[in-house]
Amino acid sequence: QAGKVQVKDDAWRLGTVEERLSHALIKGITDFIEVDTEEARLQYARPLNVIEGPLMAGMNIVGDLFGAGKMFLPQVVKSARVMKKAVAVLMPYMEAEKDAIRAAGGIVETQGKIVMATVKGDVHDIGKNIVGVVLGCNNYEVVDLGVMVPADKILRAAREHQADMIGLSGLITPSLEEMQHVAREMEREGFTIPLLIGGATTSRQHTAIKIAQHYSHPVIHVLDASRAVGVVSGLLSPDQKAAFAENNRCEQALLREEYANRQREKAMITLEEARRRRVKIDWATTDIGTPEFTGVRVLGKFPLEELVPYIDWSPFFHTWELTGRYPAIFEDAIVGEEARKLFAEAQTVLAELVRGNELTANGVYGLFPANSVGDDIEVYTDESRAVVRDTIHTLRQQVDKGPQTINYALADFVAPKESGRKDYVGAFAVTSGIGIEPILQRYRADHDDYNAIMVEALADRLAEAFAEHLHKIAREAWGYGKVEGLTNEDLIRERYRGIRPAPGYPACPDHTEKQLIWDLLNVEENTGMRLTESFAMHPGSSVSGYYFGHPESRYFPVGKLERDQVAEYAERKGMSVSTVERWLASNLNYNPDAVR
Ligand code: SAH
Repeated sequence: QAGKVQVKDDAWRLGTVEERLSHALIKGITDFIEVDTEEARLQYARPLNVIEGPLMAGMNIVGDLFGAGKMFLPQVVKSARVMKKAVAVLMPYMEAEKDAIRAAGGIVETQGKIVMATVKGDVHDIGKNIVGVVLGCNNYEVVDLGVMVPADKILRAAREHQADMIGLSGLITPSLEEMQHVAREMEREGFTIPLLIGGATTSRQHTAIKIAQHYSHPVIHVLDASRAVGVVSGLLSPDQKAAFAENNRCEQALLREEYANRQREKAMITLEEARRRRVKIDWATTDIGTPEFTGVRVLGKFPLEELVPYIDWSPFFHTWELTGRYPAIFEDAIVGEEARKLFAEAQTVLAELVRGNELTANGVYGLFPANSVGDDIEVYTDESRAVVRDTIHTLRQQVDKGPQTINYALADFVAPKESGRKDYVGAFAVTSGIGIEPILQRYRADHDDYNAIMVEALADRLAEAFAEHLHKIAREAWGYGKVEGLTNEDLIRERYRGIRPAPGYPACPDHTEKQLIWDLLNVEENTGMRLTESFAMHPGSSVSGYYFGHPESRYFPVGKLERDQVAEYAERKGMSVSTVERWLASNLNYNPDAVR
């Protein structure tokens, strides 16, 4: 823009130190925070007075604006960055003061303290980090134990830090079981502090129905970062906490009752009947495509810049709790402006990631001769189809939708053995999270959670973009995808033939089936990705799944399962029924603990 000069509006620098601190916090400006904080420290009697005075005053305004929907998460995280940098200036003086108090035999007061962790087996991080930042800038002390933390370590930390509550986070369904375990352990060890539950697969319902009854003290679901402060302050406030806990208890009792009623109403069919209602495909005439190779292909150190065009940006805004679809979100009357700013900053960080060459994207995929046998898919060692190398076990919908409707299983999309057709199935695993830790640590050491969260969110986007791009490569290799002529927008909307269902998602909710992908593709050696004990993928920004090429293949939720299918599935997998019931707990239409 020729002739237009950027003038920084520095008038706010003329105000009092309190006004300047407040302005910097509300606007998220870090430029002068160190000098202003130091100036305030010299004026106030104690460093803590600076925090409890002007800094908290500023953060309270931020909190109020956020609570009223007038400020959005990216701004709050930026305000938190300003707060952290200010606190970092004061910290050495506060420590010195505490030492002096202790030396004089006094007791150091602490404000509300929360021990937070992502449970064992899970690597979910972003949501927990966001909640931690939001709580931290509301003057709560957050002890973040990181990811994949076993129950005993969480409880030990809570004791050591004399925590006022524990917050658990998780992304994948097995984590729901692990959260129940933590609740039981808290009960067994006589804890009385509240337990907060958060993360993508958690819900009000699940918390009420599955977790709350294991612990006799408050167990509270926290929907998102914007609710966290309300919950924590409610639980800690001496005059509100009793009513708060009682409210929560009543609401949970109601949810359990609703659930029991719904459970009774659900019409189910036998596995046998569900199989009669499978997808019917005319295998004699169906086009299968001929892959140009079968076996495994590795894509090591894939260039990040080639992934950028495949990024689906809508989920990125969702991560930052801005609702809307890209690019229409930019025109949104409420969040449009913030979305535009966030997007512009994301482009800068993304460009740095691409240029910096520190983040590594590795991928692997394979195409294999395969045929279905019942609800299983046999994967053969070669085209002779004589030797079964591995078996994919699929689950079938059992909810009664009417006799003329379809009860899907993924196996329906692969030609049955007896059809005599040579069919194929694919598998893939991609990550863009290798090398992320040093980048995150650098930002965190600089008290910059904003950019740390930004990098994690972008790495997640790159992994999904890699999955999209690799799917295109695989469709071409399979043959049927050679003449698609689709735009990137079409790809992001998945307007192509075939699907890439991911174990742990609704069409294949059993996370343990990922092991098979790992075996087929030798994923760990080829990419550095590994599975945790809950079958979460490490590093975090990773995606894996199968490829199905049939034109009729589609996504669907398996939904609720009955005992007949679970028993048969366990037998097919060579697992005990109770083990399968544990992994599929969210899908059971019965209580496995009830006596038959
Ligand atoms: N463009 C999106 C892609 C992720 S969501 C993004 O960037 O975030 C779509 C993916 O989720 C699918 O490709 C598939 O891998 C998985 N998925 C969605 N619904 C599914 C279902 N019902 N069963 C199994 N996998 C599913």
